[in-house]
Amino acid sequence: MNTAGSPTLSINVFPVEKIRKDFPILALKLKGHSLIYFDNASTTQKPKVVIDAVKKYYEEENANIHRGVHHLSAAVTLAYEKARGTIGKFINAGKEEEVIITKGTTESINLVASSFGKKFISAGDEIIVSEMEHHSNILPWQLLCEEKGAVLKVIPINEKGELILDSYKKLIGPRTKLIAVTHVSNTLGTINPVKEMIAIARGAGEIAVLIDGAQAAPHLQVDVQDLDCDFYCFSSHKLYGPSGVGVLYGKEKWLNAMPPYQAGGGTIKKVTFAKTIYADLPLKFEAGTPPIEGGIGLGVAIRYLEGIGISRIATCEQELLNYATAKLQKIEGLRIIGTSSTKASVLSFVIEGLHPLDIGTILDQVGIAVRTGHHCTQPLMEHFGIPGTVRASFSFYNTFEEIDKLEEGLKKAVRMLS
Ligand code: PMP
Repeated sequence: MNTAGSPTLSINVFPVEKIRKDFPILALKLKGHSLIYFDNASTTQKPKVVIDAVKKYYEEENANIHRGVHHLSAAVTLAYEKARGTIGKFINAGKEEEVIITKGTTESINLVASSFGKKFISAGDEIIVSEMEHHSNILPWQLLCEEKGAVLKVIPINEKGELILDSYKKLIGPRTKLIAVTHVSNTLGTINPVKEMIAIARGAGEIAVLIDGAQAAPHLQVDVQDLDCDFYCFSSHKLYGPSGVGVLYGKEKWLNAMPPYQAGGGTIKKVTFAKTIYADLPLKFEAGTPPIEGGIGLGVAIRYLEGIGISRIATCEQELLNYATAKLQKIEGLRIIGTSSTKASVLSFVIEGLHPLDIGTILDQVGIAVRTGHHCTQPLMEHFGIPGTVRASFSFYNTFEEIDKLEEGLKKAVRMLS
């Protein structure tokens, strides 16, 4: 226990106060209150090393990559490709060429839906998603199904917010071509048993499995070879890196067989009006000038996280989640949405009789940033019969004291709004 009566992390070695100093924005005062940032599932704050890397890029390194012979262009091409290597190692990709740098998770999924869809999906084929997907992992498949006359099937969830695996097994059939499922739910926090799900798909024939890792990469050790997934997508901005950049990992055998997603500068070996020969991986999928400073910044963010240790981060965040869950569920009328025993540090809830938006507004008055609404998971809201939730999502830079303040703020909201 510390002087305020809150427990300190049992992993005493976790230097949270020192770590907080790495994030300049955490020192911010809002309306006289210290910022308490619990909207990490939307986007995470950036450590100074990332901010400095982006600043340094513009002050000392700016040039376009992959096509210049001059000093700056060559140096920044090296830096960008080094970042690709860092990203590849971070997820244990077998080959660097399997790491495609995109604008983010949404673009990565659209890339696969468009390109894989063009080549491998025909009328009557089936694509499986789950009821807990983010809209970004529903709509590209819905569009593809409409275009090709394919069928979208949905894995249902139980009341704890877990996928029903028996139903999943029954959905897989001879026409199943692709399964797209989230590793961690952005609304419920549920960590899905994706390795087991991939193994089940492997037993049913040549089915590609895409994992939406937007909410997993910041919290879990991801190993794409161990998972044996065909595609894995995530965003830099949720991983303490710059926004506007993300990753598509894809197995070489698929990426080589898929047509380019967007065509343009950088994607080619030779262009004539009669025929164009496209570049090898990964450039075939990286049309136009990429997010150069973003890619470099993401590499720096990953190295920063590795410096702390992903497993230490996971332990710390689990402790914060457990502490917050125990505290908040004592508040009268509060119902947690998403009660799986395997969760990442995302805590969604509703309070009887109160609108999530009103709760969020009152918390904001005391400097606490949470997210309210449907979190781009409207089918999930429909399942639970609610318009939205309040979502507090924790990062390793959050503290128990901040959770105590959230509890106080929620009690205040109940008093004011009831
Ligand atoms: N999938 C999940 C599970 C997410 O949480 C998000 C972001 N909220 C996305 C996809 C989309 O990510 P982005 O907006 O970075 O493309």
